[in-house]
Amino acid sequence: MKSRNEILFEKSQRVIPGGVNSPVRAFRSVGGTPVFFARGSGPYVWDADDRRYIDYVGSWGPLVLGHAHPQVVKAVQEAAARGLSFGAPTESELEMAEWITHCLPSMQQVRLVSSGTEATMTAIRLARGFTGRPKIVKFEGCYHGHADSLLVKAGSGALTLGQPSSAGVPAEITAHTIVLDYNDATMLEAAFKAQGDKIAAVIVEPVAGNMNLVKPGKEFLAALRELCTRYGAVLIFDEVMTGFRVGLQGAQGLFGITPDLTTLGKVIGGGMPVGAFGGRRDIMQSIAPLGPVYQAGTLSGNPVAVAAGLATLKLVQAPGFFERLSANTTMLVERLQATARDAGIAFSAQSVGGMFGVYFRAQPPETYAQVMESDKAAFNRFYHSLLAEGIYFAPSAYEAGFVSAAHGDAQIEATITAAKIAFGKLTIT
Ligand SMILES: *Cc1c(COP(=O)(O)O)cnc(C)c1O
Repeated sequence: MKSRNEILFEKSQRVIPGGVNSPVRAFRSVGGTPVFFARGSGPYVWDADDRRYIDYVGSWGPLVLGHAHPQVVKAVQEAAARGLSFGAPTESELEMAEWITHCLPSMQQVRLVSSGTEATMTAIRLARGFTGRPKIVKFEGCYHGHADSLLVKAGSGALTLGQPSSAGVPAEITAHTIVLDYNDATMLEAAFKAQGDKIAAVIVEPVAGNMNLVKPGKEFLAALRELCTRYGAVLIFDEVMTGFRVGLQGAQGLFGITPDLTTLGKVIGGGMPVGAFGGRRDIMQSIAPLGPVYQAGTLSGNPVAVAAGLATLKLVQAPGFFERLSANTTMLVERLQATARDAGIAFSAQSVGGMFGVYFRAQPPETYAQVMESDKAAFNRFYHSLLAEGIYFAPSAYEAGFVSAAHGDAQIEATITAAKIAFGKLTIT
């Protein structure tokens, strides 16, 4: 007999391309039927067949407090009762902007949008408008949403033109995007030497979380800062994932580097659609209605979404919140490593704040190439074994995982028990 999950997936594929509204949800990378979720509470989610899982995806990052936190839900209900949208300024947007600029002092001004994609797309336009330069630099393996100029992979020569990584993006658009290797400041210096007067911005995930998790090397972010300052380019930290996830001041606070612009999303919406971009006041003055760079949004700063975000931002200010989240995440990855070692599996894991990476290779990767060298087949078997044991990891070897404040010893213990079984199966070939 078919499960309800399978029936729903079959039906969905008739009316939704691939049966999903965002591609990685389709389980193409790991194979099998995606899990349809019916509800969530704290660290748990329940699927359409009422099976319970410990969730390490957290809606891909936003749910730092776990599912359906009572105070967040209450804030949403109260805001909804007051009206769903006004398309006019509200006091809650002001409060949100004050919280963000208070926590992230590099963001002297901030504007709210409805997704991370909108935030990065606009930050790029703003950097180009502010500098009057056409080119941008990004790093292979970093994801900055699905705007045309950011859907790029490296061209044949490292300093040549970027190639579109999606159909439907004209090469003329990606010709302005230079794609370099993450953690390689020498390449960036060469790019600036060659065409520094044309580079408007360098955009980076200060902790990469969209090619699994890759930490920035010690000097990498500092070199980015120094080179952007020297050549008059705008340094954009894309903290859509790391903002309020790796610490209260984001990755910029963790590493002590001040970007010119920052993009946020995910946690700042607390599970509702909110994104933001902000930074240096002189740059932000270039945005409409003050300046010539256009940006707008019917639902920007939506009061119901902002209510969820505000409630979340207030709760993460609790003393020791990120210390506890980090300690739990560290405990999870250390115990996973120990379990793999006991089973004799080539495996490594690491974390930054409440995000983590697991790799089927002996050492955590430092480059995109090393991520690609990990054993994907082993990950997929590990993944399905965990899923069968009620542990929900991201359905791809190239995604970071997330721990929430609702995860504690009991969930970690249950995860390690499931991992023991999963690693054990991998030793039988
Ligand atoms: C998720 C993500 C985005 C895109 O955000 P959406 O809300 O999915 O559009 C951009 N940048 C980074 C670093 C992300 O992790």
